[in-house]
Amino acid sequence: MSMRYPVIEVFTSVQGEGTFSGLGADFIRLAGCNLRCSWCDTAHSYDVAAATMLDVEEILAKWQFDQPIVVITGGEPSLYDLGPLVQALKARGNFVTLETNGTNPVPAAWGIDWITVSPKPDSDYVINCCANELKYVVDDNFSVDVIQADRVTPRHIYLQVESCKPESAARAVRIVTENPKLQLRVGIQLHKVLNVE
Ligand code: SF4
Repeated sequence: MSMRYPVIEVFTSVQGEGTFSGLGADFIRLAGCNLRCSWCDTAHSYDVAAATMLDVEEILAKWQFDQPIVVITGGEPSLYDLGPLVQALKARGNFVTLETNGTNPVPAAWGIDWITVSPKPDSDYVINCCANELKYVVDDNFSVDVIQADRVTPRHIYLQVESCKPESAARAVRIVTENPKLQLRVGIQLHKVLNVE
């Protein structure tokens, strides 16, 4: 039996965070997460029972995926074997990126083109997979000490402002400027500035 995925939603928007920020992308949001972050803005993806179970053929038949970039997100999509879905999208010519909290392995055999890891305090910032970029949410307790800079090539670590809060922005700017050797970047949620999904 072919792999089925709990799909919460598929939508077209612009990538709001990280290296591909501002580019058009199609997003596949899968249900379920192994963490419960206090500032989670995708809590609607927790409930697997509320998702629609679809196999790869059904997903590709239902949506066009016209954007060059496809972002697989959640929830925590690495809870599922993403290989069949990634390979089908890449066979169409899509560039497939993954957004993960980093707690689970991401096998190279899945063929993902770009892995964005956002380590979370809920997991003590553990990183159990490869990463092309790191994103840390700068909440009230965030410390530069949790950053694992050796996990990615320079200039691929984002300090994300929490929910556009001024105090989080000020903290992110301070950490970036006080730690020049780490070559950190302040990251905003462009999709929220643009008021899109
Ligand atoms: S890991 Fe992501 S989806 Fe899961 S609870 Fe935390 S912010 Fe929400």
